[in-house]
Parts: sequence; C-alpha cells; structure tokens
Amino acid sequence: MKVLAILYEGGKAAQEEPRLLGTIENKLGLKDWLESRGHEFIVSSSKEGPESDFQKHLVDAEVLITTPFHPGYLTRDLFEKAKNLKICITAGVGSDHIDLNAAVDHRIQVLEVSGSNVVSVAEHVIMSILLLVRNFIPAHEMIERGDWQVSDVARNAFDLEGKVVGTIGAGRIGYRVLQRLVPFDCKELIYYDYAPLPAAAAESVKARRVEDLKDFVSQCDVITINCPLHEGTRGLINTELLKHFKKGAWLVNTARGAICDADAVAAALKTGQLSGYAGDVWNVQPAPKEHVWRTVKNPLGGGNGMVPHYSGTTLDAQARYANGTKSILDNYLNDKPQEVQNVIIGLGKYETRAYGQR
Ligand code: NAD
Repeated sequence: MKVLAILYEGGKAAQEEPRLLGTIENKLGLKDWLESRGHEFIVSSSKEGPESDFQKHLVDAEVLITTPFHPGYLTRDLFEKAKNLKICITAGVGSDHIDLNAAVDHRIQVLEVSGSNVVSVAEHVIMSILLLVRNFIPAHEMIERGDWQVSDVARNAFDLEGKVVGTIGAGRIGYRVLQRLVPFDCKELIYYDYAPLPAAAAESVKARRVEDLKDFVSQCDVITINCPLHEGTRGLINTELLKHFKKGAWLVNTARGAICDADAVAAALKTGQLSGYAGDVWNVQPAPKEHVWRTVKNPLGGGNGMVPHYSGTTLDAQARYANGTKSILDNYLNDKPQEVQNVIIGLGKYETRAYGQR
C-alpha cells in the first residue's frame, strides 16, 4: 500500500528537535512502523502544481496524510486523478483544504484527529485577546527599540475585565475559550453557533447564545472565531458585517484565514473600526511576503498580533496528533472501526454537523 504524507519542512529545527513530529524530517514518527509492515511511505513538502510530489504521488496513493499547517489542497480535479485513494487523514483538526463535497461524491473517507490540539489553540486565543486588549506588542517593541514613553502605549491599553467577549463557533475550541475566560470577570460571554451548547455546559460558563450574527457582533468588544471553514463561513467577516462591529472591537481568528475577507479586515484595522486583529491562520499558506496582514496596523500604530500557523502545533499537540494519525491508520489497515468523533466524511456522506448545516 502506498501512503503519501504532505508535511511542512522542519529544517535544522527538526533535526535538532525530534518532537517536531509533524515535519518531513520526523515523518509523524510513522516511517519505521509503516515500512516494517511492507508499505511504501512517501513524505514531502512539495505541494503546489502538477510537478509537485503531492500531485505526482496522488495518482496511485491509497492513503493521503495532510496537515492544516502546510495544506496540500485536494481539489475536485485532483480527486478525479486519485484513482487509488481511499482515505484522507488530517494530522490535526480542520479539513477545509480538502474539497469535502468531492470526497463525498468519490466515496473517499476524510478523518481528523479531533480534539488533538484544541487546548493548544484555546490557550493561543486567550493570549491573543490579552495581547491586543492590553496593547502588548507595541509596548514590547518600544522596549527593544530602546525607547520608554509609557503614555504612547497606555493610551490604547485596556483591561479584559468588564468587556463583552463572543465566540463564533462554540465547539471544542470555542467552548474551551469560554471556560478559560470565566476567571477574567468579563461583563458577559456570548456565542453564535447554529448548534446550541447543552444547557449544563452553557450554564457552567454563563454563556448566552445570540442567534443573529449582526446582532451578535454589535454586542461584542472582543470576537474570537472558532468555527470550521466551509461554504457557510467563507468570507463571513466582510466589509458589510464589519460595519456592524462595535467601533474599536478586537478580532481574533485562529480558525481559518478565509473566514475573513483579508482586505476588508485590513481596511477596518487601518481606519480604527477594528482596534486589533490577531491570529495564526491565513487565506493562503504559506502567506506571501507582501500579505497585507503581516504589517497592517491601527491608526495608533499597533493592533497586529499575527503569527504563522502554529497555535495548534505545539510540541504537546504534535505528540497527540501524531499518535492519533497512527491510530486512524492502524484502524484502517486492520479493518477496525474508527472513533466516531474523528470521522468527517464517511463513505459517501458527511458524518459531522460541524462543516455546515445540511
Ligand atoms: P468543532 O467541530 O468541535 O466545533 C466547531 C463548531 O463550529 C461547531 O459547534 C459548529 O456547529 C460551529 N459552526 C460551524 N459552522 C458555523 C457557522 N456558520 N457559524 C457559527 N458556528 C458554526 O471544531 P473545533 O475542534 O472547535 O475546531 C474548530 C476549527 O478551528 C477547525 O475546524 C479548524 O478550522 C480550526 N483549528 C485551527 C487550529 C490552528 O492551529 N490554528 C487548530 C485546530 C483547529
């Protein structure tokens, strides 16, 4: 059996740090295990265009392993060419880089390692909210420059206490964000999700559901995005919706870059309609050098908390998603049932309700 994995290049760091499992160097720790069982295991970071290893090996691979951190984009066209493909495994959480409707049509299963990095991301969200609200990055940059002018950074620094914080999506990550916000004594925690939280879960974080998106955004000082990217969320945060945000709100997006319209968010930050934008996900990955989100600032010269896509790939998370990938493979190879929570697309149908209401 041929197994193809598209992972990111780890370079020197991956040679020095074997726990960087999600890299082409360390191969999710699967190489010996697969090869000793007689399988062919191709691992590469080359993923763009017809000459890429991704497209060359996809034609006869039976198993495809990809990662959201360096997404091999599996389009409907490529599904047509992948004649031998049976199963796609996402080493991590979030399979929007795969055309899921095409997977349904081709009866190819798509599985994720659900839950593997949800705490990692939730912690990053809390950090990003704080660094924006407290105007941390400009303050730190001031120190590195050798300057000291407290008023220049304090003029745009606030407390999280007393603010209204809302999450778009209250699934595994969104709910963990709400849980972690409880001790900050926010004025209110609210959420927008077509799937209501179980009553006991909502009660334990005292979160109120708002059913209309415009109404929801107009109430929030801080918004965090924690829903998958699908037809119903692509471009959800656009010029029109941004008009309904509270003036000077902070927005954190660790879900997927394409949920936000890149230019609309940049324009809102420039005018001060948003006070800050932070996150780790980009509409194209790797993000081009000139991507507007790398450098755009608010009118006071701060408010940018963007980093490369790494919130869900801490070393702790890599151990979990590498193990999870192995166990999905093991189930597949030995005809054992998969854990229900990991199955996004079963044979010919969606098995989750998280990727849109159907
Ligand atoms: P989950 O399936 O547990 O929860 C997703 C929630 O979003 C569900 O409750 C679903 O009903 C809701 N949702 C779907 N469409 C919605 C919409 N239109 N409006 C409002 N809510 C909607 O998933 P999760 O584990 O919480 O992960 C969420 C997403 O976070 C992933 O799909 C992935 O894109 C992203 N993620 C990012 C990283 C990272 O490293 N940055 C890591 C893991 C996951």
